[in-house]
Amino acid sequence: MKADPLTDFSRLCVHTITTKGWKLDEAVDRYAEAGVSGITVWREWLEGHDPQKAGGRIRAAGLEVVSLCRGGFFPAVKEKAREESIEDNKRAIEDAAVLGAPLVVLVCGAVPGQSLSESRKQITEGIAATLPLAESLGVRLAIEPLHPMYAADRSAINTLATANDLCDELNHPLVGIAYDVYHLWWDPDLEAQTKRTAEANRLFAYHVCDWMTPTTDLLNDRGLMGEGCIDLRGIRSMVERNGFSGMIEVEVFSNRWWAKPPREFLQEIKYTYLNHT
Ligand code: ZN
Repeated sequence: MKADPLTDFSRLCVHTITTKGWKLDEAVDRYAEAGVSGITVWREWLEGHDPQKAGGRIRAAGLEVVSLCRGGFFPAVKEKAREESIEDNKRAIEDAAVLGAPLVVLVCGAVPGQSLSESRKQITEGIAATLPLAESLGVRLAIEPLHPMYAADRSAINTLATANDLCDELNHPLVGIAYDVYHLWWDPDLEAQTKRTAEANRLFAYHVCDWMTPTTDLLNDRGLMGEGCIDLRGIRSMVERNGFSGMIEVEVFSNRWWAKPPREFLQEIKYTYLNHT
């Protein structure tokens, strides 16, 4: 029997940061109660938890752990800081394995004052250094290209093409891409690069929210789906035409939404997931 599309939440995943007011246990209970199917756990939410127990609890509630967010931030001017970052990423990979998350999302990093090409080189080296561990634990790594407005300090990987180039260079089946509409919607090469991503079997994750006009905060003014200008239906149909059938992950950083009760927000998420994604 086919699921009723009006009540089908089988592909709905929510990031713990989206419902920022809830700690991990409460988020798990509320998501499960609301019929959400997947959870992407942000590392801050794991603090103070035994990842194995947390993973067991999530699965017992009927939720799938979709990914652990986030590793990355590889570039740094000093070598010692780059080494520390690699160690931190290894811890993220270990935690993901114990939690039962098949994927770690990487916000790759950038350093103001250091050239983007140097940062990209350090990102490539950083990911390469964590790959043997990822391989031994069977954890996938997803490079998330970030909108160019973050090029100065959050990521030197700013287009899907650059992320694909980096994946080509690393050339490893465990390295792929987290495709976030917030970062990619404006790109005139989106169709060709989406095809390239899918053909290389590296479309590992799909994140949704919306782009507000005007955007009042570079980080924390994302819109809920349908509030902004992103062609969410068009982009989803494009990734699905290219074979993507994974979770649709709702990742909204919004001071405006965070000011409301998370329960109310979760209902809005369900409604907009059905009607706008
Ligand atoms: Zn994202």
